[in-house]
Amino acid sequence: MNDDPRIGPLIAELRERGVTDAAVLAAIEGVPREIFVSEPFKARAYENVALPIGRHQTISQPLVVGLMTQALELTDRTKVLEVGTGSGYQTAVLSPLCRRIYSIERHPQLHDEAESRFRRLGLTNITAIIGDGSAGWPGQAPFERIIVTAAAEDVPMVLLNQLAIGGLMIIPIGVDEHDQRLMRVTRTAEGAETEDMGAVRFVPLLPGIADK
Ligand code: SAH
Repeated sequence: MNDDPRIGPLIAELRERGVTDAAVLAAIEGVPREIFVSEPFKARAYENVALPIGRHQTISQPLVVGLMTQALELTDRTKVLEVGTGSGYQTAVLSPLCRRIYSIERHPQLHDEAESRFRRLGLTNITAIIGDGSAGWPGQAPFERIIVTAAAEDVPMVLLNQLAIGGLMIIPIGVDEHDQRLMRVTRTAEGAETEDMGAVRFVPLLPGIADK
């Protein structure tokens, strides 16, 4: 439940800017974004901006979270892989919209903080681990949906191979942070089809697990 008066204007802005799916808007409305940011940024938690979460990482802009979530076309049967748990905000928005989320984060501290937020919010359909999400999660594949919240140079073949046929992956592509495109990739029997969803700015997908 979110009774913060600042959520209303944010939802109105997201709707105006293209997040029209009522279930997605309700999911965003239900997540108290202020608990995903640290004290100095709580006053700005309901602004439509990305904010620092430590370790040089950022919580995504609500509009981008909304558009990515909407583009995933989730149902309560969907199994989702998320690469880049970060603060856990995007994960928390996905939680009521799908069956289960497997989420991977390379920064142990960010993972720990996100996990404690999931517990606090009573979100029980999230399985989060510390790891290198570039390798995906072979033991749980195939996934009907994959969402990557860090920018890759190219669509990682390893992740594409863990996507079910007919499945969708949303991923920012481009290492130059001023020239990144959000791509939606559909896995087909023959290969993959991609759609360009527009310009975005994400931190890079990095290899390996970070130090504590
Ligand atoms: N969705 C997040 C935003 C995360 S920012 C939110 O709503 O807060 C991107 C995150 O991806 C960062 O936390 C970064 O540490 C993580 N990341 C980058 N490369 C990764 C990798 N190879 N495996 C797992 N996580 C990665």
